[in-house]
Amino acid sequence: MLETTVAGSLPKPSWLAEPEKLWPEWRLSGGELEQAKRDATLIWVKEQELAGIDIVSGGEQYRIHFVHGFLEHVNGIDWQKKTKMGIRDNRYVVDVPTVTSVISRKGKIHSDEARYTRGLTTNGLKFTLPGPMTICDTIADAHYGSRPDMAMAFAEILNEEARELEAEGVDAIQFDEPAFNAFPREAAEWGVAMLERAAAGLKCKSAVHICYGYGIKANIEWKQSLGSEWRQYEDFFPAINASTIGQVSLECANSNVPYHLMGLLRNKDVLVGAIDVATDRIETPEEVAATLQKAMEFVDPERMFPCTNCGMAPLSRAVAVGKLRALGAGAALMRRKLR
Ligand code: ZN
Repeated sequence: MLETTVAGSLPKPSWLAEPEKLWPEWRLSGGELEQAKRDATLIWVKEQELAGIDIVSGGEQYRIHFVHGFLEHVNGIDWQKKTKMGIRDNRYVVDVPTVTSVISRKGKIHSDEARYTRGLTTNGLKFTLPGPMTICDTIADAHYGSRPDMAMAFAEILNEEARELEAEGVDAIQFDEPAFNAFPREAAEWGVAMLERAAAGLKCKSAVHICYGYGIKANIEWKQSLGSEWRQYEDFFPAINASTIGQVSLECANSNVPYHLMGLLRNKDVLVGAIDVATDRIETPEEVAATLQKAMEFVDPERMFPCTNCGMAPLSRAVAVGKLRALGAGAALMRRKLR
């Protein structure tokens, strides 16, 4: 009961990439870089075990960015053809690469990473992939003609990848869909159906992570514009609850998300964000337990997995370790209270 897990990303050590940056440069190259990625993954798996995290991730040490780490290995994308796009409903304007022909994988993308990480731990292992809608909100389309059509093409290659990750012994595959909160109606209309396609046939757990983003300036300003109640989840949680996706990771601690929206996910495991990733202040175990206690009004403890609000990539290593330990200790405190 109350098995702990993380949203996904963890900070890169300063010898691997520039620290505390969302788009860092690698510090090494070639074989040295590959070894350093493995070493960093080993460190984070053990840090999570020491912190009492039951279902660990590799911390996304092999990829610079959560979407581009996948797209780098996909045919049909012209990286020279940059298109100016206001992504996440114009929250940031960026020059993005462009899909110019039918997409396909160049080969297995994350299998080596998953096999290596699986060998490091007997804890549960989660592996994260970008979701189809979020990919389509991060790359321009000059081939498919509509977002749902391009999303379906990505869902199909994500499914190929997910099945291979499952075969490496991964226990949960999570699709990251921060774009759902920027386009809540489209998420219900077609985003959830694309997720089901991406997860089709999986026997391991399937999950979706939907948050209000890393604690960077553009997101903090966006959150301030959303008012005193953030009700985006309300638009698409019913569609997720009716879907084949097994778990939902959501933002909760220090946010304006009304707790009762978790009541819309009665058929699902709920990964309750009990750690705020937008501040360096480390929660106390009592604060983590208080967040879980409030969530328990709407989620049975059997279906609840204490988690972080989002990835912790842009934080310092020390802060991230502190927050992992607070999460583990807070969940342990809550389990003792329940007994
Ligand atoms: Zn997130």
